[in-house]
Amino acid sequence: MKRLATSGEILVEIMAERIGQSFLEPGPLSGPFPSGAPAIFIAQAAALGAAAGLIGAVGDDAFGQVNLDRLKRLGADVSAIAVHPGWPTGSAFVAYQPDGSRQFVYNILHSAAGRIALTPEAERMLAEADHFHVMGTALFAEATAEVARAGIAAVKARGGTVSFDPNVRAETFHLPGMREALDFVLGQADVFLPSGEELFLFTRARGEASAAAELIARGVRAVVVKKGAAGAALYDMEGRTAVEGFAVEEVDPTGAGDCFGAAFVSRWLAGDPPDRALALANACGALAVTRRGPMEGIATLAEAEAFLARQSAGGVA
Ligand code: ATP
Ligand code: MG
Repeated sequence: MKRLATSGEILVEIMAERIGQSFLEPGPLSGPFPSGAPAIFIAQAAALGAAAGLIGAVGDDAFGQVNLDRLKRLGADVSAIAVHPGWPTGSAFVAYQPDGSRQFVYNILHSAAGRIALTPEAERMLAEADHFHVMGTALFAEATAEVARAGIAAVKARGGTVSFDPNVRAETFHLPGMREALDFVLGQADVFLPSGEELFLFTRARGEASAAAELIARGVRAVVVKKGAAGAALYDMEGRTAVEGFAVEEVDPTGAGDCFGAAFVSRWLAGDPPDRALALANACGALAVTRRGPMEGIATLAEAEAFLARQSAGGVA
């Protein structure tokens, strides 16, 4: 079985209970939920049966334990997650607004998550990895970007593959150095997983098909565009394959993109035909939004397959 690794922030998410709630005054909260885009990705990959490990860092506290427990329970390799006594585990407080936007209060850079480094355990994990996934959020700080570059170099040196989810919005894209960092990773990527408009941050093309064709000509083997409730589209040398989103009740959209990406990448690595990997990813993304909390909707392979079978039999979620 191919081994897959990624690096980046491990967080707890604490959610405002009510839509439109503000963090300027007291209000009901729920959580802590295990979170952090790279952690969600690895948790979902492990739940699908992949050999998947995360290079990250937590504090010696309950929020760190919440994440370690969940990752272990789902079968992820946590050997390269460092525990930093004296540093709190990262956190994100999130409040959903009536227009669907999110208000955040983060503690990432000045938490244990900001202390990610290429430890001996991380080097050991990279030495055995066949595939490295880069989450754009992991490129924000120089130290974590260095770990991502080391991950790419390690798997490429062994003939392995790289996937890339930019997870970046236009505002952060224009920060100094960000564009170069993202362009570098895209140049190394075999699988590229932009969300909607992110596709156009990397090309001058106007249409989705021409943008994807340009990236494929630059060496990307699969471009998978995530479109929320509308589903997703895959472009590769064979052409275009699109899937409509499954009709589910969206309870909490956070983490859908990470679950989708993990499912596509792990099934692509396992040798599934691309359209099969796409269908499973579409199922895992849909299941992810049906639960409150970014990792609560993570499905096992059996659950994702059962969901797909119910859908194709004309059943409802
Ligand atoms: P994130 O907020 O995690 O960064 P994203 O923007 O990267 O999300 P989305 O496009 O929101 O990713 O979601 C990824 C995939 O999950 C979609 O392509 C789709 O397959 C599935 N999905 C997301 N939202 C829904 C929904 N409301 N109904 C059905 N499927 C959904
Ligand atoms: Mg995303």
